[in-house]
Amino acid sequence: MNEKQLIPTYIGKNKGLKFIVPEELFSLNLDQEQKIDRETARKFSRYLKGTFKGFQLARKTKYGNEYNSKIDVPEGFWESFQEKARSMGVDLISFTPVEEDFIFHNLKVFGRNAIILGMEMKWNEIKKAPSIETEIECFRVYQELGDLTIELTEFLKDKGYKSEAHHPFGGKLLIPPLVVSSGLGIIGRMGMVITPEFGPRQRWSLITTDARLPNPAPKDLKGMEEYCLTCGSCIKNCKGGAILEEPIERIKGSGIKTRIDRSKCIKSILNYNYCSVCLKICPQGHPKKKV
Ligand code: SF4
Ligand code: SF4
Repeated sequence: MNEKQLIPTYIGKNKGLKFIVPEELFSLNLDQEQKIDRETARKFSRYLKGTFKGFQLARKTKYGNEYNSKIDVPEGFWESFQEKARSMGVDLISFTPVEEDFIFHNLKVFGRNAIILGMEMKWNEIKKAPSIETEIECFRVYQELGDLTIELTEFLKDKGYKSEAHHPFGGKLLIPPLVVSSGLGIIGRMGMVITPEFGPRQRWSLITTDARLPNPAPKDLKGMEEYCLTCGSCIKNCKGGAILEEPIERIKGSGIKTRIDRSKCIKSILNYNYCSVCLKICPQGHPKKKV
């Protein structure tokens, strides 16, 4: 019998969108000046290793899709899928078609639609930024969200839908504009997605799939946008001076904008326990804060 070929749904064409995970981040360590006990060090090491392992595993989820061709879903399928995802620890979930412009150049994506998954980074740890506790929380969420994204992807593949996992530490697509398309949040002036539930305090992952998606219920996010326009606190308080007043185009003609000076931000991340001060600063992410 001939082996069936694995055919990608899309191959990224946007030359202005290159996939780069800064290598420096793979050598992250805890700041030894801040004393930590052995148990905390072990926890950090577990989350860090789990994140990098999950990042590699997600890349392999495309395999096993060779005979997956289902598109239609039975009644109630997405309701029980969302229930399952929430029981595993997903806090936010929505759906949107994949937009080809947001696929990193030359990368192959399997599945025409995207399921967006978000997981909260807890305020009690984020409010201590920059600190070891905050850094550990960031990697806890990378690891846990990454692992469950892979598990949910395997579930869809087992049901016969061509699907691929995209890890929160780095996938094949630019996630923020897809989250905005799905209606879960807006792009804040810090360049990250902010949501009514957690402000900027969540990580995002994706599952691309051929399964036919439901239409998400729209949310009214106008108030958040207006608040953001008059706030500017993240720009004033960014620890690395990395947040720009006005967005700039990443590469001329790409149509992809950025609000962060990446090299300044990475320097701050490496020098100050993953920094994350912007996550603490944003008033829209403070618990119970009504805006
Ligand atoms: S992580 Fe630090 S340097 Fe980077 S944008 Fe946030 S506050 Fe600024
Ligand atoms: S800190 Fe203020 S300006 Fe920055 S993203 Fe949050 S609400 Fe918007």
